[in-house]
Amino acid sequence: MSTPVFELVIRNALVATASDTFKADIGIIDGCIAQLGLGLAPGAREIDALGRVVTPGGVDAHCHLDQPMNEPIRMADGFESGTRSAACGGTTTVIPFAAQAKGQSLRAAVEDYHRRADGCAHVDYAFHLIVSDPTPHVLNAELPGLIREGYSSFKVYMTYDDLKLDDGQILDVLDIARQHGAMVMIHAENADCIEWLTKKLEAAGRVAPRFHANSRPMLVEREATHRAIALAELVDVPILIVHVSGREAVDQIRWARSHGLKVFAETCPQYLFLTAEDLGLDNSYMGARCVCSPPPRDKRNQEVIWNGLADGLFTLFSSDHAPFKYDAPEGKKPGGEEVAFRHIPNGIPGLETRMPLLYSEGVLGGRITLNRFVELTATNPAKAYGLHPRKGTIAVGSDADLVIWDERPVTIRNEQLHHDVDYTPYEGIKLQAWPGLTLARGEVVWDGQTFHPRKGRGQFLQCGQPSILPMSKKSSSAFT
Ligand SMILES: [Zn+2]
Repeated sequence: MSTPVFELVIRNALVATASDTFKADIGIIDGCIAQLGLGLAPGAREIDALGRVVTPGGVDAHCHLDQPMNEPIRMADGFESGTRSAACGGTTTVIPFAAQAKGQSLRAAVEDYHRRADGCAHVDYAFHLIVSDPTPHVLNAELPGLIREGYSSFKVYMTYDDLKLDDGQILDVLDIARQHGAMVMIHAENADCIEWLTKKLEAAGRVAPRFHANSRPMLVEREATHRAIALAELVDVPILIVHVSGREAVDQIRWARSHGLKVFAETCPQYLFLTAEDLGLDNSYMGARCVCSPPPRDKRNQEVIWNGLADGLFTLFSSDHAPFKYDAPEGKKPGGEEVAFRHIPNGIPGLETRMPLLYSEGVLGGRITLNRFVELTATNPAKAYGLHPRKGTIAVGSDADLVIWDERPVTIRNEQLHHDVDYTPYEGIKLQAWPGLTLARGEVVWDGQTFHPRKGRGQFLQCGQPSILPMSKKSSSAFT
């Protein structure tokens, strides 16, 4: 037996990237991909993939972990359980949010978030920023400094009292992003329309969880999406519209693209697999589990989202994991009470199910290609946030973050998931695949049956400038 050249060799893989599918062995040294090819030299350890599909580990670029909340609400997952759950579902990089509270320094929010994260994660992580208070100091001193230090993307909200910015403030943030080559993510819903509708519903005694959907109809998302696009056009900077839920918002984005504007779009599993009916058909409280914003729509809108995934409208597919326990005073029953929908914490868990849902129903269901799956779940998120080619692809020099897929029937059961949430909105859904092995920088974190913990294995990643291809001639120099 000759001396091993590699630490690990994955043999006979069907390697899928965003552009190609090919048969190869993958040779790994120091947690990185050192060689790709047929008949590689021996490894100290070998795994035979036997012609199974191997994709890059997922990059979940929209998830919320241990984000500070108002009492008594608390997120169920921090970096430990969140990255555990991610790994078991094939995701090897997460990008949650360091959120600025109004009145707080952005830098203080980042330092606090590092205290919550560092030493806890099982897979690598980066931070987005949430800008809720764009004071002159935040805009002109803190943001440029933080962008240079690797926090090159930020989310702004057009809704939620604690977070929302007015149009002038959004223009200020977009202007900083343009000057420094950062990516701005926008939560597009019209706050005043939502408040007006919520008050009307409350006055009529319509406060069950299902009325959450009535308080945020498609038009409030359509209007805000249109406005976000106009604001970005005025500043001449690319933007990313996050968690797009259906046709009317999709129409706005197609219009923007057809006019040469660089508008990127993200969608999430809840807009493919849930509808407003999951919020309840009667006044039962169970629907609180599926309260998220924008709310899930209907079957026809699901089709529109599937089409956008297939035809290139969407750039990213993220979970928007926002973990709150259902039957808990710190979760969907604040203080132990069943409350009016306005007071139910918004968000659903989805880190672990994101990749299997799209692989099974998208790729094996014949709706998207395998290469498009890789692009949406790994390559584009890594490019959008300046982590590519270290993350998001299978190439020599990239981190050995890999998923070997098992194509076998699986029924989603919360008891088999690894988050700290007491439900999954996808309970009982039958899938045709699940990750059979997840490697994080060359280490097995999930073997298809068992999670292999190593708290602190996950490292903080500094994000660079976005490297998504420009979609129009009106390109700014930051986007190469
Ligand atoms: Zn959002």
